[in-house]
Amino acid sequence: RGYSGTIKRSQLRLEGVKDVIAVASGKGGVGKSTTAVNLAVALANKCQLRVGLLDADVYGPSVPMMMKIDRKPDITEDKKMIPIENYGVKCMSIGFLVEKDAPIVWRGPMVMSALAKMTRGVDWGNLDILVVDMPPGTGDAQLTMTQNLQLSGALIVSTPQDIALLDARRGANMFSKVGVPILGFVENMSFFKCPHCGEPSFIFGKEGARKAAASMGHNFIGEIPLEVDVRKGSDEGIPVVISAPDSAISKAYGDTAQNV
Ligand code: ADP
Repeated sequence: RGYSGTIKRSQLRLEGVKDVIAVASGKGGVGKSTTAVNLAVALANKCQLRVGLLDADVYGPSVPMMMKIDRKPDITEDKKMIPIENYGVKCMSIGFLVEKDAPIVWRGPMVMSALAKMTRGVDWGNLDILVVDMPPGTGDAQLTMTQNLQLSGALIVSTPQDIALLDARRGANMFSKVGVPILGFVENMSFFKCPHCGEPSFIFGKEGARKAAASMGHNFIGEIPLEVDVRKGSDEGIPVVISAPDSAISKAYGDTAQNV
């Protein structure tokens, strides 16, 4: 309701970057960052693309931990930050610049200027795809990102749960409103397969994101089950796509990346 009228999108492209894709969710905690990280790693390692990962989740940067990067970026002569590469993905995160356990207590303008530095102040080189882990929600920071970057499209991550989908729909509508195409919905935590009997349990409901995508006329890109190895991979800083490349879960990420 707040965004009536047209919001101008920046026509500036990131030099050398073919496509910029936002990974977004309406709500926090649905696995947006986990999905962004594993998709970026799958795009690089399974689809053989040149991939960058920009962690724009200013208040809760996860990329340093999930991608096991614990240092500050080097700076070029023209004062641009050089992304730090791991698992074949060039990464940049606000988390590289602040102390590990320090709270990020910034007011709006500081967040905006940090996000501007994270986008234009980085020497990305030549990339086929830059995956942007967006801040959760539909506020100022999200709008700034969509205006600063010429986004090729947005992926909406949601669990199948109604409350998450409500916010996911809002997120999708925000992108549509500013003219960013919705690439589709990714359903995270779709089911949990019992390691003993193999029976799936639909902990957060069944096919909610698939149905929401269909009802909004968007594509359904893939479903990722709830798995211990995904959580472990995030905590240990070795994405499951790397630690268990031939597993069913890595195949789910690979198939989803292929559909992107
Ligand atoms: P968000 O970015 O939406 O806030 P995160 O990616 O930080 O969410 O994920 C929230 C929590 O859920 C993390 O502890 C993460 O390890 C876990 N998680 C996310 N996706 C999965 C999954 N498919 N299976 C198991 N754990 C998951």
